[in-house]
Amino acid sequence: MQAELDDLKNRLAEVDDVENAAALLEWDQLVMMPPGGAEGRADQTATLQKIAHEKLVAPEVGRLLDSLSRELRDRPAEDDDASLVRVAARRYERKRKIPAELVAEMYQATALGLQIWAEARAKNDFPHFLPALERIVDIKQRVAACFPETESPYDALLDDYEPGMLTHQVAAMFEELKGTLLPLVKAITARPPVDDSALRRDYPEARQLEFSLNIVRQFGYDFNRGRQDLAVHPFCTSFSTGDVRITTRVLRNYLPTCLMGSMHECGHALYDQGYPDRFRRSPLAYGASLGIHESQSRLWENLVGRSRGFWEFFYPLLQAAFPENLDAVDVDVFYRAINRVHPSYIRVEADEVTYNLHTLLRYEMEVALIEGRLAPKDAPEAWNAKYKTYFGQDVPEDRLGVLQDTHWGGGLIGYFPTYTIGNLVAAQFFAKAMADEPGLRDDFKQGEFGRLLGWLRQNVHAHGRKYLPADLVERVTGQPLSAKPYLAYLKQKFGELYRL
Ligand code: ZN
Repeated sequence: MQAELDDLKNRLAEVDDVENAAALLEWDQLVMMPPGGAEGRADQTATLQKIAHEKLVAPEVGRLLDSLSRELRDRPAEDDDASLVRVAARRYERKRKIPAELVAEMYQATALGLQIWAEARAKNDFPHFLPALERIVDIKQRVAACFPETESPYDALLDDYEPGMLTHQVAAMFEELKGTLLPLVKAITARPPVDDSALRRDYPEARQLEFSLNIVRQFGYDFNRGRQDLAVHPFCTSFSTGDVRITTRVLRNYLPTCLMGSMHECGHALYDQGYPDRFRRSPLAYGASLGIHESQSRLWENLVGRSRGFWEFFYPLLQAAFPENLDAVDVDVFYRAINRVHPSYIRVEADEVTYNLHTLLRYEMEVALIEGRLAPKDAPEAWNAKYKTYFGQDVPEDRLGVLQDTHWGGGLIGYFPTYTIGNLVAAQFFAKAMADEPGLRDDFKQGEFGRLLGWLRQNVHAHGRKYLPADLVERVTGQPLSAKPYLAYLKQKFGELYRL
């Protein structure tokens, strides 16, 4: 059996190498590459993905997985080898059902789609993006058709990002949220508006970057194993636990974009830097799902970075960095400003309360697109109508609406619900961390985050991708995934802030 296990591990390590090389090309495309590189890069990425796919679905891998699944079936779920075989077998089964030509077509279409999306967004020109979007939706429908047993074709796409999660479960999650969020948003917007002008002064870019780097360093991000660059749409990517990169965007007249965005991507990066070394070059050295990944970013961005204790420590430092803007602004005014609830057009800049209405909107549109109930050409109109329903205002231009996010251009359909799952899980994990580590929140007032990071390393990061997200949440918290801790957190925090 050991020989079979070694053979499988070597094969999976090579798949991992090729996939990480492709990820590096993608990082380069989004951070460094000149526009003229798009076509060549699309071919290169498609080729690498095709090689990875073929290596993963090779008949010999299937034979090894079959044999080892039988050999290891009595091992406990947490056993490393049993976990590796389980995770690889699940991935193998899914990938095997999608023909290699379709995979190559998808990577080619999405590499080009990203470039065309960026042009369309810059020019506020949806028709420029439409042919790319039509092609991507068509390909995704054909991918979904490879899984005829699913209840909704969207299930098949969702499973890529949130293994085991079903469309009807996502629908139920959003229904529960809607019941509390819509009245909460209404109650808040009926209160006097919060003045956030302190965030909208002239903040020179270099000092913003320096300040955000100091925060992520203090959180525990290891720059020996990472770096921060600029990108249109901030993201975190990794090629091994030794090379985990974050990107950010800086707006000179709006402080939170770089400040909060950096904390967010750092949360992702801390997860990717935290997998055990023994998972190296294996499918276990990843997050459990995108939703669990997002729980880490939202936890650091919101539950830490928008907390009162955090700003007790960092606000004097921020004032010292930007005295011309903040000397006359006291910490309570700043704390209220950074937590202002205000219906925004752009999801990435949304506050904690309205955020999930953005993901709800995208999710509903995606299900309609994939189920064939919405044509891509009608997407802007459908977007604007939904936005009006949930946010009560009109979208002035597509750049602030349907064109705002990179996901569809990159073929990431089925991804949006993971943002909301992330918000829910962040609150659930944080509540458990506070129960396990009394006084945890007081650490933040001293600029101390080691105890929180240690708890996450031990309870979440240490497992990598061993467990399905729903199982991981139960293991960590003793409870199934629930919206309750998140809604309780929102009601308490914003009830106080807005004196509801
Ligand atoms: Zn994120």
